[in-house]
Amino acid sequence: MDDDVKIGLEVHVHITALKTKLFCSCPSDYTGKDPNTVTCPVCLGLPGAIPVLNENAVKYGILTALALNCQIAEKLIFDRKHYFYPDMSKNYQISQYDGPGSMAIAKDGYIKLNDKIIRIRRINIEEDPAKIVYPTGSILTSKYTLLDYNRSGTPLLEIVTEPDLRSAKEARFFLEKLRSILEHLGICDCSIEAAMKADVNISVKGGERVEVKNVGSPKDVEDAINYEIARQRASVLQGINIKRETRHWDNERRVTVPLRTKETEEDYRYFPDPDLPPYSITPELIEKFKREMPELPDQRAERFVKQYNITPYQAQVLVNEKALADLFEEITNKYKNYTKVANLLINDYMRWLNENNITVTQSKAKANHIIELFEYLDSGLISIKIIKELLPEMILTGKTPGQLIKEKGMTNIKDENYLEKIIDEVLNEEKEAVEKAKRDPKVVNYLVGMVMKKTGKRADPQMTVEMIKQKLGLA
Ligand code: ZN
Ligand code: MN
Repeated sequence: MDDDVKIGLEVHVHITALKTKLFCSCPSDYTGKDPNTVTCPVCLGLPGAIPVLNENAVKYGILTALALNCQIAEKLIFDRKHYFYPDMSKNYQISQYDGPGSMAIAKDGYIKLNDKIIRIRRINIEEDPAKIVYPTGSILTSKYTLLDYNRSGTPLLEIVTEPDLRSAKEARFFLEKLRSILEHLGICDCSIEAAMKADVNISVKGGERVEVKNVGSPKDVEDAINYEIARQRASVLQGINIKRETRHWDNERRVTVPLRTKETEEDYRYFPDPDLPPYSITPELIEKFKREMPELPDQRAERFVKQYNITPYQAQVLVNEKALADLFEEITNKYKNYTKVANLLINDYMRWLNENNITVTQSKAKANHIIELFEYLDSGLISIKIIKELLPEMILTGKTPGQLIKEKGMTNIKDENYLEKIIDEVLNEEKEAVEKAKRDPKVVNYLVGMVMKKTGKRADPQMTVEMIKQKLGLA
């Protein structure tokens, strides 16, 4: 922990659960659509177009507020946040201001990070502006810019923390936990590109606060903060004044670059939008959503420890990503060695995914493939070493372990005479097991394993099983 560092986050979450935009009926999913084709007078910001609130957004705002232990406003008020920028043709964004005469949907909450409390200052609902495209380079180098209004008006939650974070790593953990909570609430499919973005405020002792805009993933946030801490500390040491400014995270070069000096809140001239009447949030409505509240990551981790007898650390890692926790439960629904499954998923599967920048949802290794892998391991047909070899290919190709074992000739001895010789040797040496196997077919696996041992795991599994069964009169 770095005591001279203060970090606060402003996280923008795309409410992907909503099928239409925040104030009009255009679809909010514009994936694959031509630029500026998913628009209407409202989300283009044409004069005289009247916004109408998508009431489902209120539900997701309240669910998030409850999950983050916030106080919920009695009234939902939308404000105009004025600024002049090409991504917002009406020159204001419809957002929520937390100040005199206005209120955000929720405030004063927290997220627990192990034993530490990270306070949530407020949550508000707002519309996304249009997307600015830089066709011939980056924001700093492109010769011209284009505007795509498909994104304009899509629903966002803005979640703002107090400056309680003290290191890049902590900020990353916070975002991962927040992401998992939002996924469990069903609000955000965070595997969608740019579904969650953060503005990062960082200051070191002796300097002003610097904001880094629009950082994509938790990993990028971690890197951007590490870069800023080093840069700001070096400036302070050299006696250079750190001024209040907004910077941009250059994802390619992995550095931050100056963008502009920061506006203050007064510059935005917030006032309640006269087109949108206040929407009252009754205690009954909050109670209704409390009852609809799904299981959240912390509760799920607790349940995992009790139900599957795994360690709290393992449970924590698994629930950190909803898709991973789901995969774990899908596998253990059929394959009951819980610790073995947890270990494989945490140590081998996730490590490889992280190193190769692939998400659980993108992985083609599905639950039944991994179950099959364990069955091969238990029957002694393959070793844990081969599992580690097979896993990356299963993830990339979606092929079953059986297919891969065959293709790679990992068990390539199919010579019947040779196999028979080895099997006879084993049956001779393992008289006790042979007797057991006649009563309990499961013991056949043990005999197969012994054949594998003798052949350096290269005996054809299917042939070996069949030949042993035949010899024992079980076929
Ligand atoms: Zn529209
Ligand atoms: Mn915002």
